[in-house]
Amino acid sequence: MLDQTHLRNGLLRDPEAVGVYGRGATFDRVLTGLNAAITGLEAAAQPVMLRFPPVLGRRTIERCGYLHTFPHLLATAYSFEGNSRAHAEFVEAAESGNDWSPFQRMTDVVLTPAACYAVYPHLSGALPEAGVMVDVESWCFRQELSSTPERMRAFRMREFVRLGKPDEVRSWRDAWLERAQEFLNSLGLAPSLAPANDPFFGDSAAFLKASQQEQELKFELSVGVLDGVRAATISCNYHLDHFGSMFDIRLGADSAAHSGCVAFGLERLTLALFFAHGQNLSTWPAAVLDLLQLAHA
Ligand code: ATP
Ligand code: ZN
Repeated sequence: MLDQTHLRNGLLRDPEAVGVYGRGATFDRVLTGLNAAITGLEAAAQPVMLRFPPVLGRRTIERCGYLHTFPHLLATAYSFEGNSRAHAEFVEAAESGNDWSPFQRMTDVVLTPAACYAVYPHLSGALPEAGVMVDVESWCFRQELSSTPERMRAFRMREFVRLGKPDEVRSWRDAWLERAQEFLNSLGLAPSLAPANDPFFGDSAAFLKASQQEQELKFELSVGVLDGVRAATISCNYHLDHFGSMFDIRLGADSAAHSGCVAFGLERLTLALFFAHGQNLSTWPAAVLDLLQLAHA
């Protein structure tokens, strides 16, 4: 029988799949409150809210350049296509513990690796003069095999995505470095801010990491998530005109829009809150409970 003792840090580890977690009621309440608090951070700008399922069109991920930079993190959806005879062989292979991948074919969707990728295909064409801000959330999947709960394979990412003129996007992203620190401080999480790079694949990884750092494209805010472990909980990114060019998102006659995003890892932030304040919400600081709109116990 399943009870609260099965939950470690509010999470229920999948016995069959590394890095896949369910969650209990308290973890879910905190994550929901956190998500509402994040909404408040950009409420004044009235971003366009978009929500997506955890899959993306394969073409979108190709256009993002993801196959070049992060092929090792991507998971593609496959499905069975075949006649009754192939079906019988498929089931027979599975039941006898053999490889049944030959019976599966690649579909036209992949599992979403970052929430903001779903947004860009919808913005092709001319943007309004003031640009646009989108509030997006999606379940994300990355093939990162790790047995520690701050590094999941499936997790939710909430992002604010800003597209517009280069100087406006960069200064919005820069202002977020301060705002994100303030937010984490108000949650009692003592963040550290550092320039960062993405986990690029292959021979060009060193070059891409150095160039990302040199151009100050990515910053991360890390906090304690487990004993002796700090991890990035919010990243503040500037993409230059990468997505604007790829998806033909224009400013004026023909210049590509620039873009940036601020990405919050919802499970990781929730884990950090439990680590900082304990498993029992009744002992959490009143100011943190207020911010998360959780009634005082
Ligand atoms: P891009 O710039 O390509 O859009 P991103 O900036 O949206 O990427 P990341 O910076 O890689 O994406 O991740 C954003 C946040 O998501 C991280 O700061 C972290 O909180 C969370 N996150 C990332 N990977 C994991 C993971 N494996 N498990 C749990 N949370 C994760
Ligand atoms: Zn993003």
